Amino acid sequence: MMTDLPWLLWFRRDLRLSDHPMLAAALASGRPLIPLFILDAETEAIGAAARWRLGEGLAVFAAALEGIGSRLILRRGASGVVLQDVLAETGAAGVCWSRLYDPVSRARDGAVKAALRAKGLMAASYPGHLLHEPWTIETGQGGPYRVYTPFWRAVAAQGCPEAPPRATTLPAPSAWPGSARLSDWRLGRDMRRGAGVIARHALPAGEAAAEARADAFLAGPVAGYDAARNRCDTAGTSGLSAHLSLGEIGPRRLWHGAARAEAEGRTGALTFRKELVWREFAHHLMFHFPHMAQRNWKPDWDRFPWAGDSDLAEAWRQGRTGEPFVDAAMREMYVTGTMHNRGRMIVASYLTKHLLTDWRVGLRWFDDCLTDWDPASNAMGWQWAAGSGPDAAPYFRIFNPASQAETHDPRATYRHRWIAELTPGPGPEALAYFDAVPRSWGLDPGAAYPRPLVDLARGRERALAAYGARNT
Ligand code: FAD
Repeated sequence: MMTDLPWLLWFRRDLRLSDHPMLAAALASGRPLIPLFILDAETEAIGAAARWRLGEGLAVFAAALEGIGSRLILRRGASGVVLQDVLAETGAAGVCWSRLYDPVSRARDGAVKAALRAKGLMAASYPGHLLHEPWTIETGQGGPYRVYTPFWRAVAAQGCPEAPPRATTLPAPSAWPGSARLSDWRLGRDMRRGAGVIARHALPAGEAAAEARADAFLAGPVAGYDAARNRCDTAGTSGLSAHLSLGEIGPRRLWHGAARAEAEGRTGALTFRKELVWREFAHHLMFHFPHMAQRNWKPDWDRFPWAGDSDLAEAWRQGRTGEPFVDAAMREMYVTGTMHNRGRMIVASYLTKHLLTDWRVGLRWFDDCLTDWDPASNAMGWQWAAGSGPDAAPYFRIFNPASQAETHDPRATYRHRWIAELTPGPGPEALAYFDAVPRSWGLDPGAAYPRPLVDLARGRERALAAYGARNT
């Protein structure tokens, strides 16, 4: 029977078993299913920390599949070619996947779909990475939203479908195709010394960890999220971003979980849903404006005289600007693979405004260092901070890292946690930074803390003058 022929399930950023429309549809077909992950050139090109984190996620996901009688087949090569190979080896009748919305994935997936269909094979893509497909949320006049608040209202008004239940078993094929070994891919290789450090400080990977974290957060701390999310010295946010980025948890599950928390009186859950919608907004923008990670979203910013890469940018990357809040955040990212949102806004503002450096210099560093790297949120965040993006911070909004620190880290706990040179008897996080960074940086926790690269008031005036000149 034709329905005995298996389907390939091409997993990418959807490493979970629940809230998974593609899995639900594949299971409904009653066919044997062959889960597959392909390490293609597009995936190899992601940053070092994101690639390391992908390896962690794949290991946990493979074990979860084995727990329900299945396997994760690993292959390396061009996705179109690998899929055709595995289809031929297994006699499978088609391929299913969950959609991604960045231009690199869309170009690849479009070509794959066309090639499979040209051969008369089934090729079907599904939602699941977002609350809504980007073409389904439109302004009254048609076309995408460019401003967050009306976008949020439209999403809130539309609600979103309930998440499909967890897959508890996957029908296996009569024979499994061969698989590469995950360890042979050495996905952490470009982290060099950092891989061991980050493994000790990053949050655990996988769907079970994501669900446990989400459930614990929504059951309690989300109540105070409104105020706590801006404090860098306490863990007041969900810490779910790396899970969301790799699809270890689905946004719809979180949306509905937060709605229930809100109904039970944990009012901070509304703000949490608004943050999920910032993620959504970033992806919808990237779908409609695919150049968002490469070019200024507002073309009139093309004339702005950004500085390129420089010694100043290098000091920023190394967490040695002499501005403690900036340096603490940059070091936090190097050790844990993540950075508090307040820190991201401040270091991005400092680089683009106080140092007048092109936002793409910062974006590339975040691409390389973040385990929660997300092409859309990162591009939107950087263009927001620089002022060149949709719904961006106005050019005259220049964060002052010193006064921001007083508000969001009033007892300097965060700065002391991350900066050994400013801290008597520095703790393990501050020291871990010196174990993680390349030896070629020549850093020593016993050295004097650097003097500020720029005087904050003068840097602000310079930025205002440059931004003002652009506007005349
Ligand atoms: P929570 O506060 O618990 O929020 C819950 C979820 O909402 C997050 O996990 C995330 O998916 C989403 N979210 C929250 N804030 C934002 C936001 N401002 N934009 C988009 N989504 C948001 N987020 C990434 O996931 N990957 C990135 O590469 C990334 N790069 C950024 C770069 C810059 C310059 C800036 C300013 C922000 C960036 N963000 C990025 C957004 C934000 O900083 C992180 O999502 C957040 O810090 C993750 O921590 P959390 O999961 O505890 O967030």
